[in-house]
Amino acid sequence: MSTEGIVFNIQRFTIHDGPGMRTELFLKGCPLRCRWCSNPESQKPGIEPGLYKKKCIGLKQCGACKAVCPKDNVLQFFRNKPVRLERADCQGCMVCGDNCPSDAIRSWGKKMSVQECMEIILRDKGYYEESGGGVTVSGGEPLLQADFVRELFKRCKEENIHTCLESTFSVSWNEVEKVLPYTDLVISDLKLMNSTKHRVYTGVGNELIRENLKKLSGQNIDTILRIPVIPHINDDEENIKASADFIKEELNNNIEVLQLLSFMRLGIEKYESLGQEYPMKNLKFNRPSFQRRVEKIAEYFNERGIKCLVGTRTGK
Ligand code: SF4
Ligand code: SF4
Repeated sequence: MSTEGIVFNIQRFTIHDGPGMRTELFLKGCPLRCRWCSNPESQKPGIEPGLYKKKCIGLKQCGACKAVCPKDNVLQFFRNKPVRLERADCQGCMVCGDNCPSDAIRSWGKKMSVQECMEIILRDKGYYEESGGGVTVSGGEPLLQADFVRELFKRCKEENIHTCLESTFSVSWNEVEKVLPYTDLVISDLKLMNSTKHRVYTGVGNELIRENLKKLSGQNIDTILRIPVIPHINDDEENIKASADFIKEELNNNIEVLQLLSFMRLGIEKYESLGQEYPMKNLKFNRPSFQRRVEKIAEYFNERGIKCLVGTRTGK
C-alpha cells in the first residue's frame, strides 16, 4: 500500500527553495504559529475549507454548499452571502467545495499517494537535469508526515532526483532521522534566539530546534539557514549577535549560506478565507530603512565570517 500524505499545494518550476528548477510540495500541519506566517492554510494538520466570500454567486441563486453539507449550520449566510464557516463543527469532507460552481469554497489540503506525487514530479525530470534542480518538500512542517516524506524522497533518489527538506526542526530527532538518509539539502530557520520571545512569536520555545540543528551540523549534509527578518521582532542587535554566536560556536559555522528573508505582507486573503485575522496587520515600519537595516545585518554576519546573503540566493 502506498503511503499517503496531506498536501496543500504543489508548485512546479520554483527557484527559491534549493538549487535549479524545482517542484515544491507543501504539506499540511505545523507545530508553530509564527505571527508572520504567509501560509496559514498550512497550520492545521487536516483538510479544511477556505471560504472566498466575494466569489459566491448567492444563496438564492445557488445554495449548493448548504444543501450538501452533512452538518447543520456550519455554513452560515447573511443577506444571501456566506458570512461564516463554523470550523469547530466542520468535518472537512469538502463536498461543499466539490459542489461550489464559483470556486468560493476551496479545499486546503488533499490526500495524495507517493505515486500520485511522483507522477507530477517526473513530468519535469528533464528540467531538473538541465538546471541542477530537483524536489523540495516544505510546509507547514513536513516532518509531521515523516513517513510520507521518507517514501517520497526514497523514490526521488531511485530516479536520481535531488531532494531538499525545508523544516522548522521543531519535531523529535526520530522523525528527522527517518528522512535524512534520502535528503541532499536541508533548509531551516533561526527565528529568535531568546526562547521566551520565540514562544511569544511562534507559539513554541526554541530548545528542541537548537538541539536538532546542532545534531544536524554533525552530519555531512548541506544546510541553508534562514532568518526571516521581521521589523521590531528579531532585527535587534541582541538577537542578531546571538544568532551569529550560535552559528559559529554551536554549529561550527557548518552551513552553506545564511539567507536573510525580509518580511513581506503575504497571505492576507488566505487568513480571511480561514476566518482568521491577519496577525501582522498593526505592524508599522518604513520599508526603505528596514531594507537598509537588513543589508547592514548581512554585512555584520559576513564580518563575523558567516557567509550571508539577502534573499534566497546561494551565491554559487
Ligand atoms: S467541509 Fe464538509 S462539513 Fe465542512 S462546511 Fe464543507 S460540507 Fe460542511
Ligand atoms: S456553493 Fe459556492 S456559490 Fe453556491 S452558495 Fe455555496 S459558496 Fe456560494
